[in-house]
Amino acid sequence: SRRFSGPINELANIISELQSAFAAAERVFLLMDEPAEAADIPGAHVYTDVKGNVSMNEVSFGYTPDKMTIHDLDFEAPEGNVIAIVGPTGAGKTTLVNLLMRFYDPNDGDIELDGLDTTRATRESLRLSYAMVLQDTWLFSGTIYDNLAYGKENVSMTEVEEAAKAAQIHNFIMSLPKGYETVIDEEGLNISQGQKQLLTIARAMILDANLLILDEATSNVDTQTEMKIQEAMKRLMKDKTSFVIAHRLSTIRNADSILVVNDGRIVEQGNHDELMEEGGMYSELYYSQFENYA
Ligand code: ADP
Repeated sequence: SRRFSGPINELANIISELQSAFAAAERVFLLMDEPAEAADIPGAHVYTDVKGNVSMNEVSFGYTPDKMTIHDLDFEAPEGNVIAIVGPTGAGKTTLVNLLMRFYDPNDGDIELDGLDTTRATRESLRLSYAMVLQDTWLFSGTIYDNLAYGKENVSMTEVEEAAKAAQIHNFIMSLPKGYETVIDEEGLNISQGQKQLLTIARAMILDANLLILDEATSNVDTQTEMKIQEAMKRLMKDKTSFVIAHRLSTIRNADSILVVNDGRIVEQGNHDELMEEGGMYSELYYSQFENYA
């Protein structure tokens, strides 16, 4: 069904293909339950209070040894930066994110967090350094409070409420007869897709990790909810190193750095202005697609 040929065709499809980012994110989540990973090295470092300086250094990786999926990934994500990852389906965006959290280890090259090769630290402490905002599969059958406090011990009601307020979902919660004690999957309770997204953003705020992985939602929400989501994401990302599999033009334009991924390679990186100046794939994509969404 492709009307154009060549690389532009592929790039022109990015917007629609980014919609599969949700499915990709789900894969990340499922992987978290997979058992039997290699043991941590003896005396592995335990990350606590990370600053959030991340770098990939000539990373290559294949799901099988005979076929590399990722080739020579090289980038730096300084503390507090927002890194937008864009590229067509199958480009390797999810794989990149999986490598950051060590669901797989590189065949070549290394990934550093705060200057330490992440294979020299415990996987658990690495993963606890990240918060993720994926999709509503992250909401489970339980109260809203339980859902928001999930993943962190001893969360006070005040903390939960503050996060819900910052994510602009507090008023909605308070409008429910049982408020924070409302059971999410209760019969007849209508929580919209957009409200679910705000809840998962509030949860990530409570985790307060210095590293974030976000997979931008592309579901149809009304304009007002969309604005709330954007505002909540902005608050969440503040001062955190954020990797965003990006769909929103506003995210991509405001990112400190955009990684344009294609065929397992970073084919361009820079901020919006730099990539527009370069006049390569990103700018072609921008002119062919994004401007319609601006
Ligand atoms: P994106 O997130 O950009 O759509 P992925 O990182 O999911 O891309 O996929 C990159 C490539 O790796 C694709 O060719 C995909 O088929 C392949 N791939 C993804 N996950 C696996 C896996 N678990 N085993 C083998 N190949 C995989």
